[in-house]
Amino acid sequence: MSFQTDTIHAGVAPDKAYGAIMTPIYQSSTFVFEDIGKHRGFDYTRSGNPTRKALEDSLAALEGCSGAVAVTTGMAAIATVMHLFAAGDEIICTDDCYGGTARLLSTFAEHFNVCVHFINLRNIEDIGGYVNEKTRAIWIETPSNPLLNLVDIAAVTAFAKERGLLSIVDNTFLSPYLQQPFKLGADVVVHSTTKYLNGHSDVVGGAILSNDPDLDQKLKFLVNALGTCAQPFDCWLVLRGIKTLVPRMKEHERNARIIAEFLDSHPKVKRVFYPGLESHPQHDLAKRQQRGFGGMVSFELEGGQAEVEQVLRGTRIFALAESLGGVESLIEHPATMSHASMGSEHRLVAGITDSVIRLSVGIEDPEDLVADLRQALA
Ligand SMILES: *Cc1c(COP(=O)(O)O)cnc(C)c1O
Repeated sequence: MSFQTDTIHAGVAPDKAYGAIMTPIYQSSTFVFEDIGKHRGFDYTRSGNPTRKALEDSLAALEGCSGAVAVTTGMAAIATVMHLFAAGDEIICTDDCYGGTARLLSTFAEHFNVCVHFINLRNIEDIGGYVNEKTRAIWIETPSNPLLNLVDIAAVTAFAKERGLLSIVDNTFLSPYLQQPFKLGADVVVHSTTKYLNGHSDVVGGAILSNDPDLDQKLKFLVNALGTCAQPFDCWLVLRGIKTLVPRMKEHERNARIIAEFLDSHPKVKRVFYPGLESHPQHDLAKRQQRGFGGMVSFELEGGQAEVEQVLRGTRIFALAESLGGVESLIEHPATMSHASMGSEHRLVAGITDSVIRLSVGIEDPEDLVADLRQALA
C-alpha cells in the first residue's frame, strides 16, 4: 500500500467484538485468562495492549520496519534505547541534538559510565577519530533544532555499518512522511510522537522503531522491564492524529516555504534557516534525502534584545510557546526557552545567537500568517 493509504489503514482492523471501525480505547490494566496459561494475546497492559498494538503496527508500516514500541514520551524512547548500552560503552552523538537528548545522554555518561562524544556529524571525515573498540553506536538527529542543519544519513549509516556500529536516527522533525531513515540504512528510529505524528498538541508520546528481529525483541523487553510504555488513551490520540499526517505535512510545508521566502526578503531579517531555500548550505542534501523540507523555520533578526522582544510579543496568531508540530503556529526564543539549558557559550559555538527566533509553522491560512509576521516585524 502507499504511505498515505497506510496512514489510514495500517494496524487498524474493524474491532472483533462489535465491528467498531475505529480502534477502541482498551482502557484496562489487565485481561482475563481463558484458562490456566491461556490468554487472548494480552495479559497486562505494561506488557501489551490492543490499542497500543494498533498504533505500533501503524508506526512500523509508516517507517517501513519490523518492530515498533509506543512509549510515554520522546524522552522515554531515548531513555529506553540507552538501556541497550552498558558501562564502558561509547556512543557518538550529533552535537546539535535536541536539548533533552544532550541532557539525558550526559546523565548516562555521569551515572552509568557510558561515554558520549558530542561531535559535528556534518564533518564525516572527523568521525573516525572518535571510534575505538568500545564504540557501539552513532546517534543522528536531522534536521537539527533550531538551525535546521542536516546530517547525511546514508553516509553516516554506511560508516557505522562498516565498523559494526548501531545507527540511531531521531526522525521527529520531519515525520516518516518526509524522511525514511530505514531506507537510508538506520537500525533504530526514535520519535517524539508529541510533534507531527500526533500533530494536535494534545498528547505527549514517543516511539521506538527497529528493523531486526533481535533488536525488536530487545526493545520490547526493555519497554516492559522499564515500564516506559504509552497509555491506551494517548495511543488512541496519536493513532487518530496519524490519519491526517499527509495532508497536514503538505500544508505545514507549503506554509513554511511561503514564510521562509517572506522572511528572506524582509530587511529586518539577517538570515533565514530553512532547508527548502536554495541559499541553505545543504539544500541539495535536503532534496536527496527528504521528501520535503518540513514545517520548521528559524531566522536571525537584525538588532538586539529590544527587536527580538518586539517580535516575540508582537505576533497575534503565532503563540509564544515551546514544542512544535501542531496544527497551530508557534513562535519561540531558543536562547531563553528551548535552548536555555544549553548555556550561552555552547549556544554561540553552535551558532544559536540571542537574535535567533524559531517558528513552528501551523496549517492556518498562509496569508494570515505572513500578515501576522509582517505586523510584528514592523
Ligand atoms: C520534543 C523532542 C524530543 C522529546 O520528546 P518529548 O515527547 O517532549 O519527550 C526528542 N527529540 C526531538 C527532536 C524533539 O523535538
